[in-house]
Amino acid sequence: MENKTFYNEILIEHNQHPLHKHKLPDATLALEGVNPSCGDDIVLQLKLEGDKVVDGAFEGSGCAISQASADIMLDLIIGKTKTEALHLVDIFLRMIQGKATEEELEELEEAGVLSDISHMPARVKCAVLGWHTLEEMLTG
Ligand code: ZN
Repeated sequence: MENKTFYNEILIEHNQHPLHKHKLPDATLALEGVNPSCGDDIVLQLKLEGDKVVDGAFEGSGCAISQASADIMLDLIIGKTKTEALHLVDIFLRMIQGKATEEELEELEEAGVLSDISHMPARVKCAVLGWHTLEEMLTG
């Protein structure tokens, strides 16, 4: 029960006060990610310096889970290298399938609260939208 409350509070906080939901004027990369099954539509923007993600933001609209997940993801990956960010994406996507270890979940920090989504198949695409978009940006 405590876990449930915690999970909701973090999602609500990121949904109501997203730190990273704005335009990033000096972005070096931008990519749109769409989840038609829910109507989520985001544009992820990153500023890369060499191999490092020095800043990031997103714009768009969608359900609480898609928006909160994108905000939580940006919190986690700003300041990381591309390799580190892709490593975290990999853990997140496996967590959503229920396949990440306890140690790996710790690396995800707040994003670990979204592990409950693995039991809500209809919301999985919402939760992974930002992360899939990030993966495409950094590998494409
Ligand atoms: Zn959604």
